[in-house]
Amino acid sequence: MTNDHADIRASVRKLCEGFDGAYWRALDRDRAYPSAFVDALTQSGFLAALIPEQYGGAGLPLSAAAAILEEIQHSGANGASCHAQMYVMGTLLRHGSEAQKQKYLPQIAAGKLRLQAFGVTEPASGTDTTSIRTTARRDGDHYVIDGQKIWTSRAEHSDLMLLLARTTPKEQAAKRADGLSVFLVEMRNAPGLTIRPIRTMMNHNTTEVFFENVRVPAENRIGEEGQGFRYILSGMNAERILIGAECVGDAKWFLDKASAYAKERSVFGRPIGQNQGVAFPIARAYANMRAAELMVREAAALYEVGENPGAEANMAKMLAADAAFEAANACIQTHGGFGFAEEFDIERKFRETRLYQVAPISTNLILSFLAEHTLGLPRSY
Ligand SMILES: Cc1cc2nc3c(=O)[nH]c(=O)nc-3n(C[C@H](O)[C@H](O)[C@H](O)COP(=O)(O)OP(=O)(O)OC[C@H]3O[C@@H](n4cnc5c(N)ncnc54)[C@H](O)[C@@H]3O)c2cc1C
Repeated sequence: MTNDHADIRASVRKLCEGFDGAYWRALDRDRAYPSAFVDALTQSGFLAALIPEQYGGAGLPLSAAAAILEEIQHSGANGASCHAQMYVMGTLLRHGSEAQKQKYLPQIAAGKLRLQAFGVTEPASGTDTTSIRTTARRDGDHYVIDGQKIWTSRAEHSDLMLLLARTTPKEQAAKRADGLSVFLVEMRNAPGLTIRPIRTMMNHNTTEVFFENVRVPAENRIGEEGQGFRYILSGMNAERILIGAECVGDAKWFLDKASAYAKERSVFGRPIGQNQGVAFPIARAYANMRAAELMVREAAALYEVGENPGAEANMAKMLAADAAFEAANACIQTHGGFGFAEEFDIERKFRETRLYQVAPISTNLILSFLAEHTLGLPRSY
C-alpha cells in the first residue's frame, strides 16, 4: 500500500504498548482523564502532526494523522481523549490572521497550550447548527458571550476553546448560515465561564459550558464577523476523515480479538471458529472494515491534493463507524459471556465505538447530505 506511513505506525504502536488494558480500565472506572497517555503523545509530537513546520509542528499530511489515530485505536487505546488537539487548530490555520497563528500555533505545537475544546452543540441545537442561541455582542474592543454549550468534550483539559456564537440575530441574517462567528476563547480563569462534567456511558470527559458575560478580546475572532459557520464547516472534512480512521482502528482491534478467541475457545470439543455461524460474522465485518479503510484512504488522498471531498469524507466516516460497530458486535458475540466481562476490554471498546454513529455527525445527516448533494434528491430539512 502506498504512503502507508509504516514508520509512524510502528512508533505509535510502541508508545501505546506502555498503556495497556489495565490502564484504560482503571480510567474508565473512575471516568478519569488519561493524562499520562496524552503527555506521552504530546512529547512524541504526534498531536502536532498537522501543524506546519514554520509554526513548530511536524507538517505532515492528513494521511499521516489518520495513520496515528488508527494505530491508537487499533492498540485498544482511546484517542478521543486528545484527537481534537490535532485538528481543531485547522480553523485557526486556514482562517486566522498571521498574528493569531504566530501567537498560538507554536505553543499548541509544543503542547504548552491545549486547543481541544470545540464549542458548537447546544442543548436546543445539535444537528441544526445554525439555530444556536449563544450570542457574542460587540462591546468596544471586546465581545461579550452569553449562552450555553453542551457536549463540549475535553473542556476541563483544554486551555482554549474554538467557539461558534451568533453575532447577528438569525431573523436579521440574509442566509441561515450567516451571522455566526468563531472565537478563540482562553478558558483558564475566565470570569463568567463555568464547566460542568457530564457522566456518559463511556469515559469521554465531556461537559456542558455556561457563558455569562464572558469577555473575549475582539482580536480573538477568527476571520470575518458573520462568516464563522463556513469556517467551521471547512474543518469538518478533516475531522470526518480522521474519525473514520479511528473507527477503522477500532474495527481492527475487535477483529483481532474476535479471531484470536474464535481459534482458542473450544466448545463441543472443537474451536468455536470452526463453526461458520461464528466465523462468517467476523469475516463479513473484516470485509466491511477493508471497504471502509479504502474509503478513508480515498477521502484523505483527495483532501491532500486540495480537493473538497465532502461526499468521500462523509462516506468514510459513516462506513467506518458502521464497520467498527459491526466488528464490535461480532466480537462480543464471539466471546459469549466473557464479552461482557470488564477484564476483556471488549465491553469498554464497544461502548466507546458506539458514539461514532451519533457524533460528530449522525448517520442520518450523512445520508441526507449524500441524498441531496450527491444524488440530487430534494433537500429534507
Ligand atoms: C460524547 C459526545 C461528545 C461530543 N463532543 C462534542 C464536542 O466536543 N463539541 C460539540 O460541539 N459537540 C459535541 N457532541 C455533540 C454531537 O455532535 C451531537 O450530539 C450530534 O451532532 C447530534 O446532535 P444532537 O445530539 O443535538 O441530536 P439531535 O439534533 O437532537 O438529533 C437527534 C436524532 O435525530 C436525528 N435527526 C435530527 N434531524 C434529522 C433529520 N432532518 N433527518 C433525519 N434524522 C434527523 C439525528 O440524526 C439524531 O439521531 C458530542 C456528543 C456526544 C454524545
